[in-house]
Amino acid sequence: MSSVWHPFTQHGLQEPIPCVVRGEGAVLHTTDGRRVIDAISSWWVTTHGHAHPRIAAAIRVQAGRLDQMIFAGWTHEPAEEVAAGLRAIMPASLTRVFFSDSGSTSVEVALKMALGYWLARGDARHRILVMEHGYHGDTIGAMSVGQRGVFNRAYAPLLFDVETIPFPAAGAEQATFDALDRACAAGAAAFIVEPLVLGAGGMLFYSADVLRRMRDICARHGVLFIADEVMTGWGRTGTLLACEQAGVEPDILCLSKGLTGGALPLAVTMASEPIFEAHWSTDRAKMFFHSSSYTANPIACAAAAANLAIWREEPVLARVARLGAAQAARLATVDGIRNPRVLGTIAAFEIGAGEGYLSDRAPRLMVAFRERDVLLRPLGDTLYVMPPYCIGDDDLDRVYSAISEVLARHR
Ligand SMILES: *Cc1c(COP(=O)(O)O)cnc(C)c1O
Repeated sequence: MSSVWHPFTQHGLQEPIPCVVRGEGAVLHTTDGRRVIDAISSWWVTTHGHAHPRIAAAIRVQAGRLDQMIFAGWTHEPAEEVAAGLRAIMPASLTRVFFSDSGSTSVEVALKMALGYWLARGDARHRILVMEHGYHGDTIGAMSVGQRGVFNRAYAPLLFDVETIPFPAAGAEQATFDALDRACAAGAAAFIVEPLVLGAGGMLFYSADVLRRMRDICARHGVLFIADEVMTGWGRTGTLLACEQAGVEPDILCLSKGLTGGALPLAVTMASEPIFEAHWSTDRAKMFFHSSSYTANPIACAAAAANLAIWREEPVLARVARLGAAQAARLATVDGIRNPRVLGTIAAFEIGAGEGYLSDRAPRLMVAFRERDVLLRPLGDTLYVMPPYCIGDDDLDRVYSAISEVLARHR
């Protein structure tokens, strides 16, 4: 009997917990000898594949050289290399790189930077604008700027107030622009949004044009624009960043998940020069008060540096394009689904008639996929396929035949 308490798992339902011993590319091998296709990139983190040789080698070397050290007032080569590498490929206006260890903390850091910016300008602002159905992590601040619901009901009294802008559903975009314009005019510190795809909210897509216009509205009012690309970054939507497709440069950018290729926990919050300058002073009371023990852990940074080298030296975007086309071709063969859609490496669609996240269909489907050696985890009524970029055609075929088979039985 294991003592492990698993995340997002109802132990009372005695969900079976498979044990994995080895990962390779898009495949996980279990202790009982099963070869499972990881069709969701282990919750959206694995980009180039599990146990990628270049990333694993970088981790091995760094672990024998410098494992961990304080990052307040000290630095090390892997962190400097990652910061320089990010500067070279991320939007030019994002001149500063602040390290932390998860997507949630990168969001907390972004929010604190935004508030610090306004305080330093002598115009203290605390109102954060968010998008309906948004998700930014599970810490208290990150939950506060995310969609309220069953996930955070127990903590609702502790979550801070935000102003929610309606999701720009196709045909109703003007309502989003109007609400954002009004909220910005009333005075807000920042607007935080997932560019092009709201992941945990149900793989909801909106257009690059909408993103561009939302950014313009914020700029017109001087409200900071925070792009949470924790999921959408690193090629997921077809480009390095989703923001690129809209020609948008955010004031603050959150990156994690694929930053190390998915090998180790690491995050960065990138900020534009005015945000850094707002905290620059000879007064210690005005420094940016945030740190965690493992900030810029050298081994995690070495993994991120290896990921950056892969992006520089290998045709990653061509792999992404190939996977996108392969997904679209297979998705077209699935019958009886609603709203099939593909963006970059992400394919998604709806099943059933809108029973919601807690309906027991999603867990039943998950078990049915697991029995077919496919790792998929529906989000309520939304089923999505988001594999590592290296997945082979045969394995992708297996994923889609499992989907067709399971849907035919469990509809
Ligand atoms: C996953 C996710 C987060 C949280 O990242 P963690 O590393 O799980 O804390 C934040 N924002 C978005 C958009 C995400 O998809």
